[in-house]
Formats: sequence, structure tokens, C-alpha cells
Amino acid sequence: MTTHKEKIYLDYCATTPVDPRVVDAMMPYFTGMFGNASSIHSFGRETKIPLEESREAVARAIGAETGEVYFTSGGTEADNHALIGTAFEVRRKTGKDHLIISAIEHHAVLHSAEYLKGFGFRVTELPVDEFGKVVSNELRSAITPKTFLISIMHANNEIGTIQDIDTIAGIAHEHGIIFHSDCVQSAGKLHLDMKRQNIDLLSISAHKFYGPKGIGALFIRRGTEIDSFVHGGAQEKGRRAGTENVALTVGFAKALQLAVEGMKYESQRLAELRSAMRKLLSEKFDGILFNGHPTDSLPNIVNISFDSKKNEIDGEALLMNMDLHGVAVTSGSACTSGSLEPSHVLRALGRDEKTTQASIRFSMGKYTTREEIERAVVILEEVVATVSRS
Ligand code: PLP
Repeated sequence: MTTHKEKIYLDYCATTPVDPRVVDAMMPYFTGMFGNASSIHSFGRETKIPLEESREAVARAIGAETGEVYFTSGGTEADNHALIGTAFEVRRKTGKDHLIISAIEHHAVLHSAEYLKGFGFRVTELPVDEFGKVVSNELRSAITPKTFLISIMHANNEIGTIQDIDTIAGIAHEHGIIFHSDCVQSAGKLHLDMKRQNIDLLSISAHKFYGPKGIGALFIRRGTEIDSFVHGGAQEKGRRAGTENVALTVGFAKALQLAVEGMKYESQRLAELRSAMRKLLSEKFDGILFNGHPTDSLPNIVNISFDSKKNEIDGEALLMNMDLHGVAVTSGSACTSGSLEPSHVLRALGRDEKTTQASIRFSMGKYTTREEIERAVVILEEVVATVSRS
């Protein structure tokens, strides 16, 4: 078995390292400029300015107005706020109690919807097609006069499939329904423009594009019916109380600005790496299945399954052995309290349970090289040979 000194990180969809330029931008706000941005004295005023400049920069990057950007602790909180905040506000005002999500949403959306069921809300989980796309006609038929929210993610975190969120937003608005999109994986990778796109609520998270962890935002279009989420002080216009973390907001804004500036070049480079990887994998493995849409998908994800009908593979051993050989990847399973659960996303594409277990997501980023991709495939070949049951 080949051994390699250098580890290979291919899990950029889980998180990314913070860009050194982002670290530099944040540093002054951990030490010298430490004031509470809500204080009216000079220490507070000196941090209020970068806080609001960060909000302005995030807004600019997504074509929003500055007052429409609300900082959160990340994507999970933004998703929770979008679903739970609209649910209670709209039901109180109109009695509407039905929301629609897709079956392949992130757990931040799925579990928020589940939580709402406990309060009497009704949830429709839309199926997706074999490539992970929501089908417009199915969405239309799920709508009822009681529907207040449609929440469909932009790009899926496991398979990369990109939804046509403009069409979905159009369908929602034809029926006077609020539209939320989890854009955690697409922000910084795909163009977002709230001036042009008819999205009411949008979630972003900084650590997916070389920013710090623990900071994100919920874009709330002016006029959207949504309750406050964290109660206390007047921060974030009373919608999300708590002393603002100015350093993280500065890092978030800087990271997003850098991601948007480099988007065109990086997308092209990643798409080339993705093609190279798909080709190598197809050559090396017989009967490999590629998960996700062949064209409408994020350029940095390659998600594969080993078809259980052709080659039975122990998915857990596959992942662990990849790690032992220095390759950090994610399997088609989520680790929940120590056990590997089959991915709900791959199951929604129609993959059987054994095939779902024998899956790997490779997600590339700005430090990924062609050489790393080639090495990862060689290691995969060796690992598959040892964990294959047939
Ligand atoms: N939504 C999607 C699509 C994600 O991929 C993630 C993170 O993996 C989240 C939400 C949660 O974001 P955060 O880690 O900032 O809470």
C-alpha cells in the first residue's frame, strides 16, 4: 500500500481554511479595537464603523441593500431563522401553516421544519429527480392556499446540483408565498444578485469561502414577514440580539469580496479539475455512478457511488482507510452520534442503501492541485481493493 507524507484535503464543502488576507483584516478587532459596537463612546464608535462597512460589503456582494443583511452565527442559524421566523409571524397574522421544502435540504432546514411540525405546522418534503433537481410541476401541485413558505437550496452540499431558484421564486410569488434559499454552498461560487433575483430570504456562511467559522448572514428582503429570532438587545435591528462579533463580520466581508473577485477564474479552474477527476475515476473503476447533475452543478464537487449490484464495498471502511492514507473526504453518509447514517440526499436520488453507503464526496478548493487529484485516485484504487467484499 502506498504511503504519502503529504495529506490531501478534499473536503472543502465541509469547511475551508481561512485566507491569510482575511486573518490580517480581522486581527485589529481582537485586540486594539475591542469596543462594543453598541457603546456610544469612542471605543464603540470605532468598531461600529467596520461593522457597518462589513454589512455594506456583504450586501454589495449579493446585490442587496445594506439594511437587508442580518449577521448570524452561520448558515444553520440563518436557516433556522428563515423557517421558524416566518412560520410564527405569518401564522399569527394569516393562519397559514404549511411550508414546502425539498427532500435534499441540509439538516439545518430539514430539522427546523421537523421542529415546526411539533407546533402544528404542516410540511411537504418535495422529492427530486435522479439528478437532484426539484421538478416545477411537483412544486406547483404541492402548493395549497395555506402555504406560506417555500425553502429550496441553491446548490446541494453533497452532490452539487444547482436548482433553478429564479423559476422557483417565480412560482412562489405567483401564489404570494415567501421564498427562502439556502445559498451556503453557492455564495462566493455562483453569482447572486438580489436586485435581479426574486428571493425573499437567503442564507450564507463565511467558512465555506475561506472566511471564519461562526459567522454568516440572513438576507431579509425589505417587507418580508418574519419574527425576531434572538431576543435581548437592539442589535441587528432587534431581530438577532447579542453583542456583535466585529472581527468575524470583517473577516466575513473580506472573504466574500475575495471570493466574488476570484469567482470566474476559480470556477473555470475547478471545473477543469472536476472533468479531470471524473475522467480518471471512470477509467479506473468499472460501473462507478456519478451523483448529481452532469452540468448544472457546483464545479468543485465530485460525488461517486460504487454500485452495490456490481461491487459490494464497506463504506465505513472505505472512508476510514482513505483517511488513514491521508485523504480527507466525506462518504455518502452523515456521522450522527458516532454512527454512519445513509445520506438522505443520495437516497432521494433513488440509490439503494448499500450503494449509498459506498459513496464518496470529493470537494475541491483553491489549494487543490491536479497532482493531488491524481494521487487521491491512486489511493482510492488501493483502498477499494482492500475494502471490497466481492
Ligand atoms: N446549509 C448548507 C447547504 C451547508 O452546507 C451547511 C454547512 O455544511 C449549512 C447550511 C450550515 O452552515 P454552518 O456550518 O455555517 O452552520
